[in-house]
Amino acid sequence: MTEQITLLAKLAAIDTRLDELHDELGDLPQEVKALEMIVKDKTQTVLATEEKLKELRHLQSNADVSKAQIGDKEARLTEQQFQVKNNREFDAITKEIEHLKEERATLDDRLRTAHVTEENLAATLESQQADLAEAKERLSDKEQELAELTGEHNTELRKFIEMRLRVIADLDDTMEAEYERIRTFHREAAVAIRRDSCSGCFSAIPSQRIMEMKYSKDRMFTCENCGRILVTEDLADSVEEMVEEGNI
Ligand SMILES: [Zn+2]
Repeated sequence: MTEQITLLAKLAAIDTRLDELHDELGDLPQEVKALEMIVKDKTQTVLATEEKLKELRHLQSNADVSKAQIGDKEARLTEQQFQVKNNREFDAITKEIEHLKEERATLDDRLRTAHVTEENLAATLESQQADLAEAKERLSDKEQELAELTGEHNTELRKFIEMRLRVIADLDDTMEAEYERIRTFHREAAVAIRRDSCSGCFSAIPSQRIMEMKYSKDRMFTCENCGRILVTEDLADSVEEMVEEGNI
């Protein structure tokens, strides 16, 4: 039967690794989410510009058709002008032709403006697309980073959770409850005595106590200052090694 204090030291070492694993992912999942939002926004911007451009091109082709129709009408009227029977008819056709010319000039103006707008929009679209491509790349890098980390992470996590289960199976229930209670105050509930001091709060531990600890390994000693469970340096180091090697 493993000494209780050894089990506590193992539990503390395993929990330290589990805490580290938890910290490792850090902000990465949130960073990925934020980048996803950015890509979504930029995609919508690109789509809106594409839509505007499409509308503009549609207007342009409509204007082109109108211009062609006006041209046909004008040609027809010009022919008719030579076949008029009187001045009144001639004047009426001339007036109509003038009106068509004005209409065509207006269309030409509109097309010129549309062309400038189109060029501007096309340039805007190009830069928006480049922007989007860059954001997508950043997202895919981060996603990959997260996937790699999560993969390794899960394997490690399983390993330490299994170790933890083996340890608590042998640990006295009261001690386990006490350990968990201390852990609500201190992330490291069990700490090594280093240089005759508690390595959690650095207060000195009387040497008498350290001696006592070496001979009563089924008792739990706590730091009188911070309340953490104390473990001798030798034990802490050997347990650290066992956890590192997965030898629990
Ligand atoms: Zn302490």
